[in-house]
Amino acid sequence: MSDTATTPTVARLSTRDVDFAQRLDALLDWSGVSDHAVQQRVDSILAKVKQQGDVAVVETTNHFDRLSVSSMSELQLTPEQLKQSFDSLPAAKRDALTFAAERIRSYHERQKPESWQYTEADGTVLGQKVTPVDRAGIYVPGGKAAYPSSVLMNAIPAHVAGVKEIVMVVPTPDGVLNDMVLAAAHLAGVDYVFTIGGAQAIAALAYGTETVPRVDKIVGPGNIYVATAKRAVFGQVGIDMIAGPSEILVVSDGKTDPDWLAMDLFSQAEHDEDAQSILVSWDVEHLQAVEDSIERLLPTLEREEIVRASLRRRGAIIACQDKQEAIALINRIAPEHLELSVAEPEAWLEDVRHAGAIFMGRYTAEALGDYCAGPNHVLPTSGTARFSSPLGVYDFQKRSSIIHCSAEGASALGDVASVLARGESLTAHARSAEYRIRH
Ligand code: NAD
Repeated sequence: MSDTATTPTVARLSTRDVDFAQRLDALLDWSGVSDHAVQQRVDSILAKVKQQGDVAVVETTNHFDRLSVSSMSELQLTPEQLKQSFDSLPAAKRDALTFAAERIRSYHERQKPESWQYTEADGTVLGQKVTPVDRAGIYVPGGKAAYPSSVLMNAIPAHVAGVKEIVMVVPTPDGVLNDMVLAAAHLAGVDYVFTIGGAQAIAALAYGTETVPRVDKIVGPGNIYVATAKRAVFGQVGIDMIAGPSEILVVSDGKTDPDWLAMDLFSQAEHDEDAQSILVSWDVEHLQAVEDSIERLLPTLEREEIVRASLRRRGAIIACQDKQEAIALINRIAPEHLELSVAEPEAWLEDVRHAGAIFMGRYTAEALGDYCAGPNHVLPTSGTARFSSPLGVYDFQKRSSIIHCSAEGASALGDVASVLARGESLTAHARSAEYRIRH
């Protein structure tokens, strides 16, 4: 009998196992996902694009996406082409995109931070001015699948933030354009689209070429080449985050239909072989029922092979003792997506401290958030929800501090600054402040 027939697809763990801590650490170890060979390849593509501009972008794009174009003009789409794609979509697709775009826009409108000012007793006005970046680069993945939803999730917050120019890059392997991706770019207010991807696209956005305008910030998910390139150009430009493989943690109280939960786990696993799906419950019979659903439903999936590989490689079903242990696991894992498939999810919320997005209750499938609920689907992965947040309007803005001294304020502050500056032996600082002291 084959190994596949005897071994369960998903590993079973229990918090009672003596080696549970080590097995959990191994499950959450993302270090094997990066690779020295990838780093070298990316560095050489970045250097080539920096030196040769358009020529290098055309050459690497031809190579990796199996094209045979001779100039960058063949890799650029006009606003008219984007509009045409939108207009020619079947009504159901056009309506779905428009609905999703409106929900995402309305959610992100609420994120807009305000500039503010106040006046100190000495008449000094202090404040903070919020300004969008001038030009943003949006990476939309396109190697193995096309993602119209990623266009909306990346470009709409930029638009809401007030970014003047939005430059989108999306690879089109074998020259296949995806109409929904282009239509989404039209809806989201993208200004330029280049059909390039991978490290060469990140380099073009970061350094600029004869054709691709240099941007101030690059956002958006992508594969290992994209993530490695973003890490390398950080400093030259801003970046949103380094996205790792996608993950979901589902916590169930045992009362949700096991088939629903199996499909929620699959929906994450079908992204790629490195994606991670974990189920936690204190109801052991329920865990068995979900496992049975997994084995029964797996052969019905279109992406069965990818799902099976992902579940085998990184999936887990974890039996815990109670709600408190489940919460401890959530905060330890700090998942990108957390489904609280429980009766009263609000009662959990205060204790959940680390999660990119929290899907509350049995009806809130993570897939709804991926497409159209409203919040952003670009989320911190690999445990980085401990210190970072979903992509948002704030990622496309920066803050300047404002100080406006009255004569009286400058005099009062001058006394203090003079003492502190002389304490640091910076006498030009001290004298600059002292000139403004009223005697
Ligand atoms: P991609 O656009 O990220 O990468 C495709 C490009 O990779 C190609 O154009 C090519 O230039 C480059 N490339 C491929 N093989 C290479 C090689 N051997 N050497 C150098 N460069 C090479 O598309 P993808 O590969 O489909 O990956 C998309 C990723 O984005 C997936 O992991 C998916 O799960 C993730 N994703 C995440 C979200 C999210 O919101 N977190 C949304 C959508 C997709």
